[in-house]
Amino acid sequence: MTILWSILILGGLGLVFGIGLVLFGVLFHVEEDERIKEVEKMLPNYNCGACGYAGCHQMAENLVSGNEPMVSKCKPGKKDKNFDPIIAYLSSHPDKDGTVHVPK
Ligand code: SF4
Repeated sequence: MTILWSILILGGLGLVFGIGLVLFGVLFHVEEDERIKEVEKMLPNYNCGACGYAGCHQMAENLVSGNEPMVSKCKPGKKDKNFDPIIAYLSSHPDKDGTVHVPK
């Protein structure tokens, strides 16, 4: 009988916490700027951190927001990738207020 109660209590707690996580996920969902994903695809995606950011996603966030003006900080990208597509993409996709952030 003790084992049955243990299973029921732990199962119930798991269910309650699972539902709680789903609710928090729905309530606190944040829409991300779609340009971040597009710019991230154009970066080398080594996630090496040589640019000074935690990874390519964070670099893309800062390029899109205009906080990072130098796409050339991506050291591996200098060798492997051409940054022109990122510059062209951000030139033609301004912020909602019309501000254009073009990295160098
Ligand atoms: S240096 Fe380039 S490849 Fe490395 S994390 Fe930064 S953006 Fe990604």
